[in-house]
Amino acid sequence: MLYNTLSRTKELFKPLNAEHVGMYVCGPTVYGDPHLGHTRPAITFDLLFRYLKALSYKVRYVRNITDVGHLEHDADEGEDKISKKARLEQLEPMEVAQYYTNRYHTFMDKLGVLPPSIEPHASGHIIEQIELVRRILEAGYAYESNGSIYFDVTKYNSKFHYGKLSGRNLDDVLVGTREIDGQSDKRNSYDFALWKKAQPEHIMRWPSPWSDGFPGWHLECTAMSTKYLGEQFDIHGGGMDLMFPHHECEIAQSCASLGHDSARYWIHNNMITIGGQKMGKSLGNFITLEQLFAGDHPKLEQAYSPMTVRFFILQAHYRSTLDFSNEALKAAEKGYDRLMKGVETLGKLKASESSSVDVGDLRTRCEEAMNDDLSSPMVISALFDWVRIINSIADGKESISAADLEELKRVVNLYVFDILGLSNEKSEGGSSNQLAPLMDMILEVRKSAKANKDWATSDLIRNRLAEIGIRVKDNKDGSMDWEQA
Ligand code: ZN
Repeated sequence: MLYNTLSRTKELFKPLNAEHVGMYVCGPTVYGDPHLGHTRPAITFDLLFRYLKALSYKVRYVRNITDVGHLEHDADEGEDKISKKARLEQLEPMEVAQYYTNRYHTFMDKLGVLPPSIEPHASGHIIEQIELVRRILEAGYAYESNGSIYFDVTKYNSKFHYGKLSGRNLDDVLVGTREIDGQSDKRNSYDFALWKKAQPEHIMRWPSPWSDGFPGWHLECTAMSTKYLGEQFDIHGGGMDLMFPHHECEIAQSCASLGHDSARYWIHNNMITIGGQKMGKSLGNFITLEQLFAGDHPKLEQAYSPMTVRFFILQAHYRSTLDFSNEALKAAEKGYDRLMKGVETLGKLKASESSSVDVGDLRTRCEEAMNDDLSSPMVISALFDWVRIINSIADGKESISAADLEELKRVVNLYVFDILGLSNEKSEGGSSNQLAPLMDMILEVRKSAKANKDWATSDLIRNRLAEIGIRVKDNKDGSMDWEQA
């Protein structure tokens, strides 16, 4: 069994069906605005989704929306977050969930994250979840207690291994389980809820054979992954923080109801830390994507564009921790710019009779890097080496044939845009395109000012442009270039 790695993707990763890959990734809980913590799993599994598609697999990528409002309770009032917000703002709970779902989609779109093939909502699969509880009860791995249904971990562990994914045994689990309110119905502290009877203040509730209530959090992923991908599927992904207990519980639910685990490969992305700390509302380092893109947070020295953030995440291997800092983000911004300039230069290269460069080197290095457990940092490093080569060709120090130039453009476009999923914000956002005719006009005025030895006007134009982030370069031949900082 392979856990936690896709190492040697090509050799080891053999899908159940030669052409089709089924992939399930734990999606967002839509109780709040999308934040920095959402970026890493979304981009990691987007990279895998894009790469598998580039390898010509037909991928069915399922990523759920957790919207039944059972995840975290308000510590003071025992009320779940969606319900509380809905009550305070007099909204239908689904209005709150929809609002944040829309926000999530908008920001993922900015980050270049492709939409999954299916995005099932937990609230739309209550029937499937009740059915799954029934099957687990029938198999004898769950019990009813005051209208709630709990998974019997002790009994399960006598036949299966609870904790195999995270390398725990039951004693470790016991030590790690805290007794908190509402757990008194359970036989053991580590038993987990499959169905919870709703308290009177709980707005989101559904009828079931046991009580009016709501499904346990772990249940939706098992119910929806098997519904859309079958009883066995290829890849299950999520953040490392979900490995225990969430994914352990999913495995237990599959084994209890089907007799076997559903996922063949588990892949976990590591976490983003801020100054070495976990991100959290109480720590004052909780940064939403809106704040990040606008530079509007005390921890931010400037705004960071969506592509800078995507590049920052891709520059690290998905299994390493990634520490967020302004220095690291600024370095990513520079790196991203350098790569985009290289792509622009590539577009302007002129072919020669023959090549002094070996274009096959880039293709081989990128393929090997991706096949080595999705090493996006190695892909980026190969691309940077080729940006230097592209600049040498542009300077006439190296040469490239027409066929090689064609192939180089194909490989660069494939990796930069299709697989890494980057886009050129400057050309795409339209700012440069819209600016170009205006800049032509302004620089014409400046040229004529210089021709008339009107240095004051010429300097004024240059300085005012610099203030709004446009740098004008005077060339020796009297022509002028400009670029946005
Ligand atoms: Zn899940």
